[in-house]
Amino acid sequence: MAGNDVIVLGAGIVGISAALHLQQRGRAVTLIDRRGMVEETSFGNAGIIQREAVVPYTFPRDPALVMKYAFNFLPEANLHWSALPKIAPWLFRHWLQSTPERKDATARGAKPLVERCIVEHEALAAEAGVLGLMRRTGYLRIYRSAQAFDQAVAKDAVDREMYGVTYQAVDARGLAELEPHLKGSLAGGVLMPQPVSVSDPGALGRAYGELLISRGAKFLRGEARTLEQVGGGWQVQTSMGPVTAPEVVVAMGAWSDDVLRALGYRFPLGIKRGYHMHYRAAGNATLSRPVLDAQNGYVLTSMTNGIRLTTGAEFANRDAPLTPRQLELAEPLARGIFPLGTRVDAQPWLGRRPCLPDMLPVISRAPRHQGLWLDFGHHHLGLTLGPVSGRLLAEMITGETPFIDPTPYRADRF
Ligand SMILES: Cc1cc2nc3c(=O)[nH]c(=O)nc-3n(C[C@H](O)[C@H](O)[C@H](O)COP(=O)(O)OP(=O)(O)OC[C@H]3O[C@@H](n4cnc5c(N)ncnc54)[C@H](O)[C@@H]3O)c2cc1C
Repeated sequence: MAGNDVIVLGAGIVGISAALHLQQRGRAVTLIDRRGMVEETSFGNAGIIQREAVVPYTFPRDPALVMKYAFNFLPEANLHWSALPKIAPWLFRHWLQSTPERKDATARGAKPLVERCIVEHEALAAEAGVLGLMRRTGYLRIYRSAQAFDQAVAKDAVDREMYGVTYQAVDARGLAELEPHLKGSLAGGVLMPQPVSVSDPGALGRAYGELLISRGAKFLRGEARTLEQVGGGWQVQTSMGPVTAPEVVVAMGAWSDDVLRALGYRFPLGIKRGYHMHYRAAGNATLSRPVLDAQNGYVLTSMTNGIRLTTGAEFANRDAPLTPRQLELAEPLARGIFPLGTRVDAQPWLGRRPCLPDMLPVISRAPRHQGLWLDFGHHHLGLTLGPVSGRLLAEMITGETPFIDPTPYRADRF
């Protein structure tokens, strides 16, 4: 198939956003995925465009807390011990990157991307005609104990000072005003007013994909692992035969490694798995914004299909069978703070967060191959950062002056 400028591998939010930005800059794009558009991690996340998320998740430094995680005493994490030999090197590198100094470096690296996350989404959503899926609700953390609430408020004050993130502490009465259907004994909460909540992240991503196709791009089913260098360009086998282009973008989230290892790259890509389940709300109960039960690490969000409960991180082999233990632990806790009705989905959904040890994505030229570009590793923030990353990558590929310094996202930092 002739006439392609760029092949984009991976039709999640990251790949589709990169393809749209390349197309806006006059490139003929072919998007390739072995499945349909937005059928993996970008389909089922918590739907929060996290404008507040400058400060990264880090590996805990408190040995007592590490032990609690290791023995699966807390619902926010689940470790498959059988996976430890394989994932321990990544966990160790993540631990090394979690000192206060490295955490600060990550926050400073993430800030310019995070600051533009809503603007870049709104631009694409307006063109795709789906601004209605985006709700300017903010995002609420709730605390069950006064001690945890006080600690959070103190930490937020530091982060506000250092990184300019906006937080508003609210007491129990303020919580009841914000979310009248929350129940149980709650000490207080922190409202982050900036984040946007998407009522159906799968529909948002598909709408971006449909915009891409309506403007002339091709979407083909194909196997990215067939990628090979041919005659100064790149070729991939698809259901429509081989596709070639001078440039290729690897945007395959948790599977990016499958292609890059074959080309000799060894990125320390770890996977944090996570589950979701939808519930009917009992009676007339509603939630006006996503709510994080901060001491238990799950989120409740009102979505098109019901109240979506999303879990924290499961440390396991990427392709291991589902073990939705965190969901089983979180569900009764969630029922204690909100009147959830029956389950809606027949099975829990599983997604895979692609995580590099420093919790920054790779948005970069590949160090050793002409025409190979990388856009992966968006960890907990792929929905948030997909469009802004796509813009940055497209600017680099087309030789424009990037709107921010891309140095923190270089591939050769590992
Ligand atoms: C429970 C949970 C909650 C989350 N909540 C949020 C949130 O609220 N906000 C936020 O910003 N982020 C959130 N995230 C993170 C976010 O969902 C991910 O970072 C993001 O979806 C990654 O997007 P992606 O396009 O890189 O990968 P994906 O969406 O996983 O897409 C990768 C694509 O590559 C394709 N692919 C894989 N292998 C091959 C192959 N061999 N050949 C061809 N194609 C292939 C797949 O089929 C898939 O379509 C959450 C994640 C989870 C799990």
